[in-house]
Amino acid sequence: MVLSVLAPASTASATDIKGAAPAAAAVADPILAYGARIAGDDARTRVVIELDRAPSVAVHYLADPPRVVVDLPATAFGFPAKDLDARGLFTAIRYGTMDKDSARIVLTAAKPAKLVMARVQQNESGKGYRLVLDAEMVPPEQYADLVRKQTWTDEDTAADVGPVVPVENVKPSDFLIAVDAGHGGIDAGAMASDGSTPEKQITLAFAKALAEKLNAQPGIKAFLTRDSDAYLSLSQRVTIARQNHAALFISLHADTLKQKDIRGSTVYTISDRASDRLAADVADRENSSDKLAGTETRTTPPVVADILMDLTRRETQAFSVSLAQDVLNSFNGQIAMINNPHRYAGFQVLTAPDVPSILVELGFLSNKEDEKLLLDDAWRAKLVDRLAEAVRQYRAVTVANGG
Ligand code: ZN
Repeated sequence: MVLSVLAPASTASATDIKGAAPAAAAVADPILAYGARIAGDDARTRVVIELDRAPSVAVHYLADPPRVVVDLPATAFGFPAKDLDARGLFTAIRYGTMDKDSARIVLTAAKPAKLVMARVQQNESGKGYRLVLDAEMVPPEQYADLVRKQTWTDEDTAADVGPVVPVENVKPSDFLIAVDAGHGGIDAGAMASDGSTPEKQITLAFAKALAEKLNAQPGIKAFLTRDSDAYLSLSQRVTIARQNHAALFISLHADTLKQKDIRGSTVYTISDRASDRLAADVADRENSSDKLAGTETRTTPPVVADILMDLTRRETQAFSVSLAQDVLNSFNGQIAMINNPHRYAGFQVLTAPDVPSILVELGFLSNKEDEKLLLDDAWRAKLVDRLAEAVRQYRAVTVANGG
């Protein structure tokens, strides 16, 4: 590479993995986590992460289930996932981007455990650093104490409303649509069978394609809740749609099921009671996103007993169902669908009381044929085309009925 020849020698320091990166860009570069290992048993477990620079580290604890949350500055995780497979005290280990300035590791423990050491050490060779996390089992009472006494506020959990960036260039007459790519950052969602492609990447590709397709229609303006591999809590997604006064909210997913023979698209709307067992399972999994990332709200939202809000909610619900029906009509004969393709369950991401919302399971990564389609550019274009047609149909009827 020509650049590496031209770069002054001083920028290619021993700890600079990228070597040739210009000095100015190096400052904003994420820390590179290039190696990881885990060892131990269910009494004591050690996690070691190799980094190109020394990070700041903050440790917090969450209950139900017990989780150790390790917050880091922006970090790119470049080691193979299998190097940090959960073992010992931990039943699940997740790591990834939270936002452009931060990353997080969430260690989920089978039984309460605390870090007896969280230290950054320079490698003896002088190249790079190690983050060493030593965890030990603690009695439940001690763990409860740990959770209670930590000086961690609800704001730290990115609980509810992040800074909402208003969508630009919206005309008052625009029919505004929030397109939500499911999962992101630390929450990868499901995974393709060969481990190559996480759901978060598939949903982002579909969301971008859908927004582009919608934006090509006059009078319709679509925006993305996330346009990069960043984490958003479920309530942030809802808030982004509401604060921008979106007319519709469409969340895209491609999950896995235990039943590998089940395939086809499903359109979900919200309901307190699930339509069936499968719908309840899918909603449970989707709703666990905040827990995986350690961002669930620890304060209960105030109960709003507002009759107007109740009416709005019911009206919104009717619009959500009508959009779901338009999607099914548009898919009919073109896109393979599951049996009873309109299902409902208590999805948190569909709780906006004033924005008609649907969640589309495009297909299932657990099914071989669906997986092939989900990774196929031509099928994506076709599906996105059908979704855009459904929105066009929905809008035509709403406009005809006076908006
Ligand atoms: Zn999903």
